[in-house]
Amino acid sequence: MTLSEMRRLLESRQLLLTKSLGQNFLHDGNVLRRITTAAALQAGDRVLEIGPGLGPLTEHLLDAGVPVLAVEKDQRLYEILQERFAGHPRLTLLHADALDWLQNEPRDWTGWKLVANLPYSVGSPLLVELALAERPPERMVVTLQWEVIQRLTALPDTADYGVLTALVGLQFESRGAFKISRDCFHPAPDVESACATLVRRPTPLLPSDRITAYARVVKLAFSQRRKMLRKLLRSEWPEPVLDAALAATGIAPTARAETISIPRLAALTDHLVGTPLPTDTGRLSAHDPGIH
Ligand code: SAM
Repeated sequence: MTLSEMRRLLESRQLLLTKSLGQNFLHDGNVLRRITTAAALQAGDRVLEIGPGLGPLTEHLLDAGVPVLAVEKDQRLYEILQERFAGHPRLTLLHADALDWLQNEPRDWTGWKLVANLPYSVGSPLLVELALAERPPERMVVTLQWEVIQRLTALPDTADYGVLTALVGLQFESRGAFKISRDCFHPAPDVESACATLVRRPTPLLPSDRITAYARVVKLAFSQRRKMLRKLLRSEWPEPVLDAALAATGIAPTARAETISIPRLAALTDHLVGTPLPTDTGRLSAHDPGIH
């Protein structure tokens, strides 16, 4: 879909774009091909696209020969998509808020790949929701603000390494990112953008019933960046349990969360959850509600 086709379609419908829904559409064929290539689509893959908009990426994904499930929140765009792709045998269109839908209908994402130019205002929660799923997708190729992509791909001991890095990184490894010029979008967004490829770790760092506890540890540990991890976790664990877990995982009692690798944060969670609390208060079990 070229820029002039996009403009014509929007004009013919007198459709005013909604900034709060992050409606910046990709029209650059080279970028769309690069995103599709990064998805490494193969027979048997299924693709989830969140926010198809007018369908420029959807078109490329369908051309790759895989089934696509596309979830669009804007009723007007959903109707355009229905017309544009009417009767396409491999496209399923869903009119929904993708975040509500993901939260309310957890499913097995094994065999799926997320390929999406995400709505920037809800990009991080959408990504975390899928990244922490009990059975997450195989790969996530996501276009987002450059600032968020930097956090997704950050290494320990850098300013960008934080909650988002650690939550998504539990089950995914970054395979790099490329920047996308503002001119490739219509209308041009206010911020720089990039596309990252995240691939599911071949060996999970934690059993799935400890993911919720991991999220709790990470959120607490990064809640005050300048504070020592031990001090922050003391609100949830008795000191002897905490000190034993830190010693077992080789984490210095004076360490701050931003210096600790994701495998080590996972190992720490494993020790903390695996050690019964002296009074068995059950303050942090893997099934703790309200952690997400
Ligand atoms: N994929 C298209 C493209 O590259 O041209 C559009 C991407 S645009 C950045 C984001 C799209 O997500 C818009 O179509 C917007 O309406 C849609 N959107 C915004 N919030 C959404 C949500 N919560 N659930 C599903 N779609 C959403």
